[in-house]
Amino acid sequence: MSNEPSGTLDQDDPRGPAVDPSTELQEYPGFTERMDPRPDHGEDSYTGHGRLSGRRAFITGGDSGIGRAVALAFAREGADVAIGYLPEEEEEDGASCLELIRAEGRTALAVPGDLRDESYAPSAVSRVLDGLGGLDILVNNAGYHIAQPNGLPDVDADQLRRTFETNVYGTIWLTQAALPHLTAGASIINTTSVQGYHPSRNLMDYAATKAALNNLTSSLAELLGERGIRVNAVAPGPVWTPLQPATTTSEKLESFGEGTPLGRMGQPAELAGAYVFLASDDARYVSGEILGVTGGKPLA
Ligand code: NAD
Ligand code: MG
Repeated sequence: MSNEPSGTLDQDDPRGPAVDPSTELQEYPGFTERMDPRPDHGEDSYTGHGRLSGRRAFITGGDSGIGRAVALAFAREGADVAIGYLPEEEEEDGASCLELIRAEGRTALAVPGDLRDESYAPSAVSRVLDGLGGLDILVNNAGYHIAQPNGLPDVDADQLRRTFETNVYGTIWLTQAALPHLTAGASIINTTSVQGYHPSRNLMDYAATKAALNNLTSSLAELLGERGIRVNAVAPGPVWTPLQPATTTSEKLESFGEGTPLGRMGQPAELAGAYVFLASDDARYVSGEILGVTGGKPLA
């Protein structure tokens, strides 16, 4: 085990490859190709083993970051994949991700729309049912935050509304719309966050939404168990995705992830396996679980 201080990992470090991020900020929602370094979604590393063969998945926020890595892994595991993303702003990232899915010989479906709009959920679900012929895996992954270095006093009504409407309302509306169409063996996976357990001062409103989603994961697992539908969550730690340069400060980016036991931020590719596990039959006795992928930071 190396005793090097945080931030100086090299590719051979047993703690995994460090990311040396540019501290340049981007306009929201951020774009994959403008990130330096370009995030790793597993393009050159993820190997599928047919674990989701024939399944049909819908991943919100699937254009970029964690959602893109999950979309690629699901496709390599044999699933057809629909992705949600913000129309207009994210057409370019959405198209790149759809290409990755199609390159695996799977059906790829674009379902752009704004989760804050209550009418998106029923229309998105019906587009997925039409395009994929059904829905077996719903990944509520889209999320929004804006960092406020001074904490709650600087969170205005627009920010509060956007954060809760995207993360909590959007997840609930989409889950409600999907429920009548899910059958035994289906699964729901929510992307929450280590912030739901250990909130940072600069993300207080966001952290509260993620705590709400952790809680919702438990209650939905309880509700849907009798239908044979499993509900779980992945709680990421710091991960190098467009959300970061688009919503935080250069100072935060510079040291992002250094506070974790592994001393670095993660790559989207390092999250994908957790979603594959939870969606697959390997996890058929796993429900109501929140799986941390945090670089070693404990959830509890
Ligand atoms: P990302 O920016 O690549 O993905 C977030 C996606 O959310 C966007 O691509 C966008 O398509 C979608 N989105 C946002 N607002 C939306 C809206 N109103 N309607 C529809 N879609 C909308 O960043 P990411 O880091 O991959 O984020 C994925 C999830 O991971 C989020 O829920 C985020 O909170 C969570 N997360 C990220 C980190 C991290 O460090 N990157 C840590 C913990 C949790
Ligand atoms: Mg995006």
